[in-house]
Amino acid sequence: RELAGDPEPENYRRQVYQACFSRVLPKIVKAPQLVAYSKEMAAQLGLSEEICESEDFCQVFVGNRLVEGMDPYASCYGGHQFGHWAGQLGDGRAINLGEVINKQGQRWALQLKGAGPTPYSRSADGLAVLRSSLREFLCSEAMYHLGVPTTRALSLILTGEYVVRDMFYDGNPQRELGAVVCRVAPSFTRFGNFQLFTSRDDVDTLKKLVDYTIRTDFPHLGEPSKAVYLQWFADICRSTAKMIVHWQRVGFVHGVMNTDNMSILGLTIDYGPYGWLENYDPDWTPNTTDAQGRRYRFGNQPKIAYWNLVQLANAIYPLIQKADPLQQALNVFTSTFEADWQRMMADKLGLMAFDIASDETLVADLTTLLQLAETDMTLFYRGLANLNVDDEVLVFYALLENVSYVPLNAENQALAGLWFNSYQARLKLDNRSHGERQQIMNQVNPLYVLRNYLAQQAIDLAEQDDFSMARELLEVLRRPYDFQAGKERFAEKRPDWAKHRAGCSMLSCSS
Ligand code: AMP
Ligand code: MG
Ligand code: MG
Repeated sequence: RELAGDPEPENYRRQVYQACFSRVLPKIVKAPQLVAYSKEMAAQLGLSEEICESEDFCQVFVGNRLVEGMDPYASCYGGHQFGHWAGQLGDGRAINLGEVINKQGQRWALQLKGAGPTPYSRSADGLAVLRSSLREFLCSEAMYHLGVPTTRALSLILTGEYVVRDMFYDGNPQRELGAVVCRVAPSFTRFGNFQLFTSRDDVDTLKKLVDYTIRTDFPHLGEPSKAVYLQWFADICRSTAKMIVHWQRVGFVHGVMNTDNMSILGLTIDYGPYGWLENYDPDWTPNTTDAQGRRYRFGNQPKIAYWNLVQLANAIYPLIQKADPLQQALNVFTSTFEADWQRMMADKLGLMAFDIASDETLVADLTTLLQLAETDMTLFYRGLANLNVDDEVLVFYALLENVSYVPLNAENQALAGLWFNSYQARLKLDNRSHGERQQIMNQVNPLYVLRNYLAQQAIDLAEQDDFSMARELLEVLRRPYDFQAGKERFAEKRPDWAKHRAGCSMLSCSS
């Protein structure tokens, strides 16, 4: 620990060659304070509530104290950012503490985000602020409870120190509270970990990392060989497709789908300028850095995932040296995405199965309709589950009026009526009971999501030392599909004031 507080010499920023990681110690901070922890994650790790509320826990998971067996390191990766190769760029602010095998035999890697500089920090400080850390902490747990594959969060701890940040909305540097999130996942390896070695023609290290990854994270594939590399890649294509279908289901926009933010386990990773669709809009992205091209807009996420997989295919090409089988594996993405997306849309609408002949049009017409009146996606699907096959069209108008941000004009009302008629006709073909349909729909259509403005309200309070809303949100988001009496305010339309407020709909990259 002698080096703590003095990041030199081992933490000095540099290009690191022929290595997958560098050992590095977390920075010692003054006055750590626990903001929140996840009960479920703690239980997975065998940590009792008493431990989580202890001073020891706070010291360890802010990075001040190492537990026996911890050998902290930062991993080395590159990536394509916004479509351009950016070289070595991470991990500049995540330090792995090590791995835990729990009672069930599951392996969990523990990683501190914002615990100080590493050799990969480039010109930045290796720190994170309360604002972005609270967003990561809440959203990873919310996604887990929604059933979306994701990295997890164990704890959120204030460092008791300030961090300087350029806020994008006025350009003036601000002092913000520093914080550390302990993230947890079976593996944090990203597409960019592999890409970096290939970009440097370092096939030896590439092979070492691929073999290690297969043995550690994909043991069911058996000993690495050319055939196993291909199966491994096909596995990644499949799990990535499944993850994206979940994002589209719940209305999640990642915001920065750079290849360094793509997990080889198909987990949602790196919660930065993400956002939740409020009014349904396939062109929406919360990321101000991407405002021009909207590369990472909601409707483009499947295409970008595929593009990223192509980059991973290029990265592992030296181990396979044939394009055809890689292309076949890539096709697994397309076929998995299509099948899962159809199943998902059928469930969202309460249909027994997706009938391509009729339902493609039904869904396409609905997506047009939802944009006409800026309809809140989450509230719409929950409301739709309440309607009956024999309901008057007026009931549908009333739903749209309740859950939309602008009124429907007469022309759009006519379109809405037509859609509702064909939906009712389609439901009648299925002959499913109202109760059963409602149950199925409410299992895939959440009532509570981490609305952008709710996260911002929790942040505003937390910055004033009031963690009550953050903790309440964490609690409500544990059961996103269940109506919770007294929690109605977390399942309401975005208020008008929030539409253009910084943090509530627009966000910038790393903070
Ligand atoms: P992101 O756009 O958040 O995925 O960031 C890309 C990479 O930039 C990360 O992998 C980090 O290595 C690095 N980075 C972001 N913020 C910081 C920071 N405050 N200090 C050091 N490195 C950072
Ligand atoms: Mg990142
Ligand atoms: Mg980030």
